[in-house]
Amino acid sequence: MKPTDKAQGGGARRRKAPTPRSGACPICRKPTATAYRPFCSKRCADIDLGRWLGEAYTIPVEPAGLDDTGEES
Ligand SMILES: [Zn+2]
Repeated sequence: MKPTDKAQGGGARRRKAPTPRSGACPICRKPTATAYRPFCSKRCADIDLGRWLGEAYTIPVEPAGLDDTGEES
């Protein structure tokens, strides 16, 4: 018996992340530029920012605990 079947057992698991942290621009999948990480250019950075802001605007803002005691005397 040799412990060589270790590699076939599937010990190393590889996960494919949908959004890589580095290597590709999340907008256009081009190689990222260090100056505009994680994007490839300012344009893509702006696009992402625009998307983010757009999403932010669509998020329904709930009134978070108004400091209203409603005490009248
Ligand atoms: Zn890009």
